[in-house]
Amino acid sequence: MTQTLNGSCYCGAVHVQLDPGKPVGELPLRVCQCGFCRRHGARYTSDPAGWLHITAAPGVLRRYRFSRQTADFLICQECACYVAAMIEDEGQAYATLNVVGTNLPGFDGRDGEPLDYEDETDEQRLARRKARWTPTTLVEAVPNA
Ligand SMILES: [Zn+2]
Repeated sequence: MTQTLNGSCYCGAVHVQLDPGKPVGELPLRVCQCGFCRRHGARYTSDPAGWLHITAAPGVLRRYRFSRQTADFLICQECACYVAAMIEDEGQAYATLNVVGTNLPGFDGRDGEPLDYEDETDEQRLARRKARWTPTTLVEAVPNA
């Protein structure tokens, strides 16, 4: 049995629910070395065999893009927590979840794996994200309403 993992931004306007395809201890914990992620202290998990549901209060999510503009970095505009990075391809969204910004349980005490994606082409980047990130549904509605 795998366990559903629930998290949220600091103010609670953005809620995340990860249904992983494996136990939490087997999920990856990645630390991207780019300048944006380092400034946020972001640590990521994802599971291509799982499913991620993001529920955000209407209008609260800011979608920030930088550098190559290939992903949306989802930030709560109320409390400034950085929640996840998300892409869409052929009508399907995929995301990698920032376990720090969403206070996702199960990762305390683990060393993250430092990763540097600087040398990827845009095509390699898209292929990697689709292979590793979690299929995602994003709903803009009041959480727990
Ligand atoms: Zn918030």
